[in-house]
Amino acid sequence: MVKTADTIRVLLVEDNPGDADLVRASLEAAEAGAIALDAVERLADALARVRAPSPPDVVLLDLTLPDAFGLGGLARLHEAAPDIPVVVLTGAEGQLGAAAIQRGAQDYLVKGGADGALVSRALRYAIERHERAAQARLLAAERAAREAAEQARERMALLAAASTAVSHSLDDRHALASLGSVIVPRLADWFAVRITDAEPDEWVVTHRAAESVALLQARLGDVAIREAASGPGAVLAKGRPELFQDVGCNAPPSSWRAALEDLGTRSAMVVPVRLNDETVGVIVLGAVARRFSPDDLTLAEEIGRRAGVAIANCRLYRQARLALAARDEFLSIAAHELRTPLAVLQLKLQMVARKQQASLCASCDRAVPADYAGTSQQISRLGQLVESLLDVSSVAGDRPKLQLEEVDVTEVARESIARLQDLALRSGSDVTLRRAEPVPGTWDRRGLERVLLNLLSNALKFGAGKPIEVRVETDGDQVVVDVEDHGIGIAPADMDRIFEQFERAVSSQNFGGLGLGLYVTRRLVEQHGGAITVRSELGVGSVFTVRLPRVASARVVA
Ligand code: ADP
Repeated sequence: MVKTADTIRVLLVEDNPGDADLVRASLEAAEAGAIALDAVERLADALARVRAPSPPDVVLLDLTLPDAFGLGGLARLHEAAPDIPVVVLTGAEGQLGAAAIQRGAQDYLVKGGADGALVSRALRYAIERHERAAQARLLAAERAAREAAEQARERMALLAAASTAVSHSLDDRHALASLGSVIVPRLADWFAVRITDAEPDEWVVTHRAAESVALLQARLGDVAIREAASGPGAVLAKGRPELFQDVGCNAPPSSWRAALEDLGTRSAMVVPVRLNDETVGVIVLGAVARRFSPDDLTLAEEIGRRAGVAIANCRLYRQARLALAARDEFLSIAAHELRTPLAVLQLKLQMVARKQQASLCASCDRAVPADYAGTSQQISRLGQLVESLLDVSSVAGDRPKLQLEEVDVTEVARESIARLQDLALRSGSDVTLRRAEPVPGTWDRRGLERVLLNLLSNALKFGAGKPIEVRVETDGDQVVVDVEDHGIGIAPADMDRIFEQFERAVSSQNFGGLGLGLYVTRRLVEQHGGAITVRSELGVGSVFTVRLPRVASARVVA
């Protein structure tokens, strides 16, 4: 079929040569050259033409063909080429034409009753209408795709917000309440969640209208959980979600449905909260005006899964905290228990050493007193390790165990220096205190002693036998204590981590220690509301600076 710019290609499907000639003649008379007509006699040939690479623009179809009769031929043509408009040729009676239009034909023409101009107009209109319909369909499909994409985006955003909400808190009630504030009003008018073994075992609810919260809580109550046929009770028992698109129509009569109706809820969804394969709770979403769809249910199920993850996290966190508390308690008890026999052992050893000294004779083994001294040193080392454990257990946990009282920090510094005199002698460092006057404040005496003893013993340990200076100064309502040495120093990369548990910046072969002293020191200082910093240079020395409020109040430290 040859076609020029404005010609339309018409396929005539007509088995009666007389009728076919009539159409051809009338079309040529009306629009010579503007219509390229091709004619076939059977539907099978027509189907081949519409499937060919260069199909007609419109088909003029007789409804009585040797291989197709009535509207069946039209249906097969549509199936083969839905994009090609069809105008049917009927007999004198109009019903068949009307039926054809209902089945998708663009128009109908009564055989012999139409002149060429009418036929050509009908054909052109058919093409136009068909194109417009196709465009409208395309537009509608585009709009639907855009809406679907927008809905998908909103759902993803809601899920992301739900994930953030539940991961915000490690307290499950709190996490679930924040989940509710994300869901309402974006997805539902109210949200209720119940976790079966939570304490207290009750609904956590969020309602768009704050004044309805109490009613929601009361109306859901235990009834909804006990009802086994449908609703939360059934979902808890079976673990399968339920969608009540129209509460009034498709929820079976039950106390659960009565509750929903009392709450003025038109549509509701109930989804399980699962932890691994176990259903540990249930989420209910209610809408007053809108109708939830199966897509909404899928989204709600996903939210249920996220709530399950949040519950799992909260439980793990609780277990971890309990384990930590048990560890701290064990440490504290163990350290206390170890302390006593160590002290007794130390005393006994001193007594034996004294007796041995008194009875020393010419024939006695002179190495024995040295052995005693060595043993005694090891016992005191053991004692220090036990003290470290005790220190750690005393600064661990959420609640600071400080006994605040009036304390003079200058005096504490002086006493600490005195207590470490032996160590100072062994290390070769001179320790100077640059302050004579008292600086009183409200602190935990034992804590303050620990801070100074830890900083001083480190200065002695890492001070390379060079002088050490302790300075006590005041700065407004704060006291500032510096402990300065001129020893090995600390590399910049290590300066932060040495304040954490078990962190050390030296090898254990060269220097003993558990890496707990500075951690305990920092915790104690922070629990007093103060701060500790260090300035240091490798090979030059270090200055540890403690700043404390003069009047401390115990602080919870993370
Ligand atoms: P420990 O002394 O038992 O190793 P600490 O927590 O007291 O544990 O100190 C942690 C680490 O910080 C030490 O191992 C050491 O590397 C470094 N450090 C602490 N004080 C000093 C200091 N005055 N000079 C150099 N390094 C120090």
